[in-house]
This record gives sequence, C-alpha cells and structure tokens, in this order.
Amino acid sequence: MSVLSCAGLGVTIERKPILRGVDLSIEAGTVTAVVGPNGAGKSTLLACLAGLRKPTAGAARLDDVNLSVLRSRDRARRMAFLPQTPEIAWAVEARTLVELGRTPFIGARGQGQEDRAAVDRAMAAANVSVFEHRIVDTLSGGERARVLIARALAGDPEWLLADEPLTGLDPAHQLDVAALFRRLAGDGVGVVVTLHDLSMALRMADRIIVLAEGAVLTDEPPARALRPEVLRRAYGVEATLTQGPGGPLIDVIRRA
Ligand code: ADP
Ligand code: MG
Repeated sequence: MSVLSCAGLGVTIERKPILRGVDLSIEAGTVTAVVGPNGAGKSTLLACLAGLRKPTAGAARLDDVNLSVLRSRDRARRMAFLPQTPEIAWAVEARTLVELGRTPFIGARGQGQEDRAAVDRAMAAANVSVFEHRIVDTLSGGERARVLIARALAGDPEWLLADEPLTGLDPAHQLDVAALFRRLAGDGVGVVVTLHDLSMALRMADRIIVLAEGAVLTDEPPARALRPEVLRRAYGVEATLTQGPGGPLIDVIRRA
C-alpha cells in the first residue's frame, strides 16, 4: 500500500513561516480532508505533498522517495493534482482537455487505444461525457470543475490531491464528487482534499487534519478532529457537532 508522508515539513516565505513542523503519514485507499481557516497553509501543504512545491525544511515523500528528487514525469504518472484556481485559457473541447491528463503516459507513437479508453472512463466517472465536444469556455463553472476532475482521473493516478474541489459546485454535484472520491478510495486511490465545508468533511473523510497558522492542530478521525474545542482554537467560533438526518453536521453558533 502506497504511503504519502512528510516529516518536519516547513515552508518559509520571506522570513514568514507558512508551514511549521508538519508530520503526516497517509495511506492510499483513504480520504483525508485538510481543513482550517483562510491562510492556514492548506494549499501550500497540498502543493508540497503533490511534489509541486519544495519545502524549505523537512521533506515530503512518496513511499520513501523524496518528492523533491522524483522526476516530474514519474511523479505525474502516480499523482494527480487539482489546483484551487485552475487556469484554462484556451478554447479547446472538453475531451482535448481531459486528454492532457494522459500526457505523462504518451510516448512517441501518440495516443493509443488504452489512452482513449482511460479518457472515456475518466469522463464517465466525472459525469462529463455529454460535454465531450463542448468548448471548455462555454461550460459553467461547475461543469468545468468536473471536466478538470476528469483530466486528473485520466492518468489513473494512485494519488489524487484536490484543493477545494467542492467549491463552486451545487449541492447535487458536491454529493456526486464526494461519492466519486469515496469510490476512488474504495478502489485503492489515496485522496487528499482541502475543504471549507466542515459537514462535508465529516461525511466524506476517513480522517481530518486541522491546520491553523501553518501547524497541525489535530489529525484524527472526523468526529474527534472537529470537536468544539478544536473549532474554537482553529476558527475562533463556538460550534457543535450534531446529528442531522443526512449525517453529522457542524452547527456554527457564534464567534467565540
Ligand atoms: P490556505 O490555502 O489555507 O488559505 P495558503 O497555503 O494559500 O493558505 O497560504 C498560507 C499563507 O501563506 C497565507 O498567509 C498566504 O498569504 C501566504 N502565502 C502563500 N503563498 C505565498 C507566496 N508565494 N508569497 C507570500 N505569501 C504566500
Ligand atoms: Mg487555499
């Protein structure tokens, strides 16, 4: 089973500590949610775990290989990263965009049958097959977000790291994407997501990491990680965990 980890991981930018002493070990086949207030360092942590940002202290490792020394093509074959604010500036068809997810596998002979099948599967999983020939620019924000998920899945990654993948999706598509991530984890993929919606985090994650001011506040099973005292320290709010008809809910009462 693949393990994504980091030890003593820190990022300092212009003498400002963004992340400090982060130690994590995450097993594939699980969904891990990273939550925390704005500016806590969630995106920075995810980029380090994806091997896209070099930490200034410590290291992130994929199965004992330091991500900073892993060749980018080798890394891209195993890990997919879904950025928070993806830039897609070109007027291309959705399928063409999803095909880019196969780039790390395509050799001199170009796209093969296997690549086309992987693109079909990824588009079906993200429920965007109907947009195949639509120009990406003409899709709604939520539709485009799902096309980008398809692009990430097209490489059949062992790891999927997604920065706020539910932001901008309507409730039905949030549920679909949450269910898709759970299904991927069931198939053995390691899913790490940053989320703002704490109730969604409770429902979809096996484990929740709460970041505050660049450090890990707790790293525990969901209901324990989001206990009132942690929410008070992390977010400065009084909140309680209650049982709703659809599952656990975080009820934010007031500022602490
Ligand atoms: P989050 O995703 O939790 O909102 P980020 O990881 O995006 O937090 O950012 C954490 C902190 O690091 C913020 O205060 C942000 O302004 C700062 N930061 C991130 N990237 C840079 C950068 N390139 N230069 C300066 N500050 C940065
Ligand atoms: Mg962020």
